[in-house]
Amino acid sequence: ADTPIKRALVSVTDKTGVVDFVKALEDEFGVEVISTGGTARVLEEAGVRVVPIEQYTGFPEMMDGRVKTLHPKVHGGLLARRDNPSHMAEAAEHGIGMIDLVVVNLYEFEKTVANPEVTFDDAIEHIDIGGPSMLRSAAKNADSVTVVSDPDDYDEVLDTMRATGGCTTLELRRYLQLKVYETTACYDAAIANWLADRYDEDFPEELEDAEDAPATPDELGVYLEKVDDLRYGENPQQTAAVYRFADDFAELGSSEYPLVGAEQLQGKPLSYNNYLDADAAWNLVREFDGPACVILKHQNPCGSAVADDVTTAYDRAFACDPKSAFGGIIACNREVPFELVEHAFDENGQFVEVIIAPSYTPEAIERMAKRPNLRVLATGGVGAHAEYELRSIDGGVLLQNVDSVSEDPATFTCPTERKPTPEEMDELMFAWRVCKGVKSNAILVSKGKAGIGMGPGQPNRVDSALLACERADEACERMGVEKGGYACASDAFFPFRDNVDVLAEHGVTCIIQPGGSKRDDESIEACNEHGIAMVFTGNRHFRH
Ligand code: 5GP
Repeated sequence: ADTPIKRALVSVTDKTGVVDFVKALEDEFGVEVISTGGTARVLEEAGVRVVPIEQYTGFPEMMDGRVKTLHPKVHGGLLARRDNPSHMAEAAEHGIGMIDLVVVNLYEFEKTVANPEVTFDDAIEHIDIGGPSMLRSAAKNADSVTVVSDPDDYDEVLDTMRATGGCTTLELRRYLQLKVYETTACYDAAIANWLADRYDEDFPEELEDAEDAPATPDELGVYLEKVDDLRYGENPQQTAAVYRFADDFAELGSSEYPLVGAEQLQGKPLSYNNYLDADAAWNLVREFDGPACVILKHQNPCGSAVADDVTTAYDRAFACDPKSAFGGIIACNREVPFELVEHAFDENGQFVEVIIAPSYTPEAIERMAKRPNLRVLATGGVGAHAEYELRSIDGGVLLQNVDSVSEDPATFTCPTERKPTPEEMDELMFAWRVCKGVKSNAILVSKGKAGIGMGPGQPNRVDSALLACERADEACERMGVEKGGYACASDAFFPFRDNVDVLAEHGVTCIIQPGGSKRDDESIEACNEHGIAMVFTGNRHFRH
């Protein structure tokens, strides 16, 4: 409320203008002024009456001035909400009077440390504690309390008081409030920077947080150019940046329509993990010739499908595992139409981090704009994979050809008694492609060209198989379709027949895998016992 100012606390290092200001407060408005040691002396010498802080709190200034105003009678008087009856009752009970105006400017820390001769202890002594505390308390309560942290504002405050019969306006108090937090933020930043300079060499690197870690290099040799710094890396304590291959070296790692270089139509900047996952999703979805959609989380495709059109592919990919799809990445290999976006937002209420596709219809773009945080990437096309991929290891990098599926079913063999039907073979080819995008050990169970069961990243294959089957059964239950009749892909051979037994138990009827185990015979025998058709591709697709 805009009530007249009755009591002020004045404690300033920069004494400029303070005498005239306080004189006006007392003479024109009858304000009671409390003040600290040095400030009180200056005011008294100029003939201004003040209440010394020690008299007000009943406590002496102590510890060389380290504790002057840090007292409930001060902070209670600043923080109490005037419109809160229990605050006011508690204040009354403890004899805490309201302080309506705070005039504080801080120990000159920056000026002190600018002197090259300054000692460490002297600098520390110039860290103001009570001053910022009062400023922050008063500014928090700007609804009722006026806080002046800059002598430049004295005149404005007096003018307002003259115009309002000794009050201030909410507008002015809010201006002063903001100024306080800017001031204390800069003040603390100056202290932190000065300490950081002092301590820099002393800390082992792991104690340094991301902010202080060295900036990521702008150039990595002649091959890479920095595109952007990232907010942070895989975790907030890691710094990170994203690079692109320089034109002359593009063949080292750029595909025809690369993720780095895709146009971002809207949304927050991509994070490190967004890049990693968008990359995995994009590289998987571009494997398919027909309209396809991949929903990917934490490097694994929790939903995947091909269909006659991309919206249906999306719907079926989402249905694979709606729970995991939350917070995932959507990748499509066709232009994204309005309906797909509408299904994702309205029907499924899917929270999407990133969507990546060759392009979007204008209606889809308009609809996505209503989710301004959603990152939308348009690659311009699909095209071929990059030829090479690099990964860093301690002391160097690994380089390899990209693992693109170019297998010809004509080269596959079928060692089992039962051969896959053409429909089964179609389904197996789908599962085989998706499986390549799943972390090893990878088992992918599919039905109706949708990857409804995924078993990623387990250190033994049976666990991956179990996971995949359980997910597939759950998906069928959820979708109300019959369980079983599944196709299954395994990224590498089965070392024992137990995988086949687990898969058979859950209704897998056909399997695709590289073959090549010493014990292939046992797996083949298991398939024959269960009536499963199994295809050997000859190539495995580890993804670590
Ligand atoms: P004065 O010259 O009045 O003795 O001191 C004014 C300065 O003391 C102001 O810059 C104010 O921010 C600071 N100050 C006020 N209260 C305290 C306190 O309790 N502790 C410390 N360290 N400084 C304070």
